[in-house]
Amino acid sequence: MAEFKGVMVCAEFVNGKMSPITMELLGIGRRLADDLGEELSALLIGKEAAPFSQQAVAYGAQRVYLVSNPLLDSYNSDAYTGAITSVCRQVNPSIMLLGQTDTGRDLAPRLAVRLGGGLAMDCIDLSIDPETKLMLQTRPVFGGNAYAVMITPTARPQMATVRPKTMSPLERDDTRQGEVIPLEIGIESSLIKAEIIETVKEEVEGIKLEEAEIVVTGGRGIGTVEGFDVLRKLAGVLGGAVGATRAACDEGLAPTTMQVGQTGKIVSPNLYIAVALSGAVQHLAGCSGSKHIAVINTDPEAYIFKVAEWGIVADYKVTLAPFIEKCKELSTQ
Ligand SMILES: Cc1cc2nc3c(=O)[nH]c(=O)nc-3n(C[C@H](O)[C@H](O)[C@H](O)COP(=O)(O)OP(=O)(O)OC[C@H]3O[C@@H](n4cnc5c(N)ncnc54)[C@H](O)[C@@H]3O)c2cc1C
Repeated sequence: MAEFKGVMVCAEFVNGKMSPITMELLGIGRRLADDLGEELSALLIGKEAAPFSQQAVAYGAQRVYLVSNPLLDSYNSDAYTGAITSVCRQVNPSIMLLGQTDTGRDLAPRLAVRLGGGLAMDCIDLSIDPETKLMLQTRPVFGGNAYAVMITPTARPQMATVRPKTMSPLERDDTRQGEVIPLEIGIESSLIKAEIIETVKEEVEGIKLEEAEIVVTGGRGIGTVEGFDVLRKLAGVLGGAVGATRAACDEGLAPTTMQVGQTGKIVSPNLYIAVALSGAVQHLAGCSGSKHIAVINTDPEAYIFKVAEWGIVADYKVTLAPFIEKCKELSTQ
């Protein structure tokens, strides 16, 4: 049996930049590798990846594998799955980390099946068990009401996707040294079954929901599109972004791109302000990683109060306007 060794991070690029989740993965990857006494490598794919090799090293990678092929110039599930599978079969990492992003969510299960590895999705903590040297993978379950710690005792690689903003990157250090290894990967074009016909860029006003430090989310109880404009005002004053529950999106109060939850976006802001939403388990699955949760709801029995640090039992139509004024006043002091 091949010897599996080392930690590998799959890098992601967004708008010509290395995405923040990659630096976060390199940070936790390096900590895991150091605890194992093994190496951290970064896998950079695509024609635009090469200039980022030094950045990956500066954030902790000791080795960078560079893979390019015309079929990998833009993201394609089949091509990327094939390429990463080939790299893993050459390198045999013991641990493989991806982001809990659209790309990571698409790739990780495919890779786990191809490689025969064990996968824990949406992890919020990773560590090494000092006795067994297995990776301990902590992930929220039951909509964030409990945490499960999972291990992969025998299958390799041990694979995890990591929720953005739950792990800290290492401080950038441009004096770090690392080896850059270009790899030749052949991809059989007949294996590519899906073709990307068009890419539509999501229009985002202000800060991206997944990157915001403050998220103001409205539920069905907001009642009108104008009600969401009030939430936008609050988010604007606080420098945050606006989210919505699925019920609010289904009722046409907000676009589905704003949906937070199990079937929407996953956010981990410093402050999550939940307005006129009940706190269904599927909603909490998308916001339970928030550091602090504050609630405005007319129903004192609403479940969302149970997961919140602060709460006001009130009609948002009465409470928000003076709250926004107070925030404005404080921000100018
Ligand atoms: C497979 C599946 C996946 C799902 N995925 C998601 C998902 O990704 N995201 C998601 O959000 N949901 C998801 N859902 C739906 C989820 O189960 C809930 O139905 C939904 O989250 C409820 O939305 P809500 O809290 O806005 O509405 P409600 O449950 O109707 O709550 C509205 C709240 O507003 C309060 N309220 C009313 N008026 C006011 C007022 N004037 N001021 C203050 N408070 C007021 C009420 O007291 C109530 O608590 C999913 C469901 C399924 C089955």
